[in-house]
Amino acid sequence: MSRRRRGVAKKSRAASPETEARVADMHARVRAELRDRPGVYRMMSPDGEIIYVGKSKKLRTRLLGYFRAEFPLEKGARIIREASEIVWDYQPSEFAALLEELRLIKRHRPRFNVMMKRDARHYAFIRISSGPAPKFTVVRSAGNDNHGTYFGPFHGAYQLEEALRELNDVLGLRDCRTDLPMHFADQTEMPVAPPRTPGCIRFEIGKCLGPCVAGTTQAQYRTRFQLARDFLDGAHDAPIETLRSAMETSSEALEFERAAQLRDKIARLESLREQFTRLRFAVESLSFVYTVPGFGDEHRSYVIRRGRVRADLPAPSSSSEEHALAMHAAEIFAPSERVSATVPAHEVDELLLLSSWFRKFPAEHDRTIPAKNFPHARSA
Ligand code: SF4
Repeated sequence: MSRRRRGVAKKSRAASPETEARVADMHARVRAELRDRPGVYRMMSPDGEIIYVGKSKKLRTRLLGYFRAEFPLEKGARIIREASEIVWDYQPSEFAALLEELRLIKRHRPRFNVMMKRDARHYAFIRISSGPAPKFTVVRSAGNDNHGTYFGPFHGAYQLEEALRELNDVLGLRDCRTDLPMHFADQTEMPVAPPRTPGCIRFEIGKCLGPCVAGTTQAQYRTRFQLARDFLDGAHDAPIETLRSAMETSSEALEFERAAQLRDKIARLESLREQFTRLRFAVESLSFVYTVPGFGDEHRSYVIRRGRVRADLPAPSSSSEEHALAMHAAEIFAPSERVSATVPAHEVDELLLLSSWFRKFPAEHDRTIPAKNFPHARSA
């Protein structure tokens, strides 16, 4: 019986003669025209939608693989059956193809890429929300939000949430719904603030400044929030010091259970601070000029600062071109940017791409020249 059912399912998924003809056309074109070199490709639906974007250092081999997919449910077979055309662009190198693939995916959000990315989310980020009373939220992905600012990526969303809870508690920051109306103490044009927090006791027990019940002014709240950001950026240790002095007071009062709880809170905050130190280092260490040999003579130089490609130029082939590149790089590295673990949302994916590229191919570091070698844009 199960064999019959499988047979029926297979038959119902069999390609129509039109689909088979379309696939055969694409196959013939790939065989006839495509060269085996780095590039990106777009699978187009009959109505012109980009349904999938991919890259390969061997485009021809990669694309011919789609036509060998045997099972109808295989990813490659599903994509090729929905496509009516394959468009490709050659790129100078695998690295260039990877960058271009990322840009195309971000621009067009092809449905097969989005579907597959959903399965691959394993990072956590801290998102800073905007609004009158900003707050931190742990999220699984930097998503398509082009406005938020993110700290990350981190492994371990649960530990991150625990540590953030301690930080919120010690600094009195809110952790409620982003769209909850706020009523600041210095807000006159708004309706009278509610007498109690809506379904939340954090204000009553002293864990939140209470921006929802006029417990604080907007300026006071923002100062506290900035303190939290500065702590995460390694500028000071105030939240840990506050807990440490409370722990000492508890110990002196022989409240050992309370002192032990405070010790655990301190440990969670210290571990969070440590993760941020590592992250800052990772972001800062992705600042250099990276020259990549290309297919044929298409060598490229990338000026990368804080995990983002700021310039993509032909690699210099003479000393005057080298000088021009050095000047350009110096201009990019010159403006001071705060050493921070924050990454704007639209840069997160590029940061992840670059860090995974250099983790996968550590020898590529040998092709980089660190930012500190381009201190000033000076003339020769
Ligand atoms: S006290 Fe108000 S602002 Fe603070 S967490 Fe609770 S509901 Fe949010």
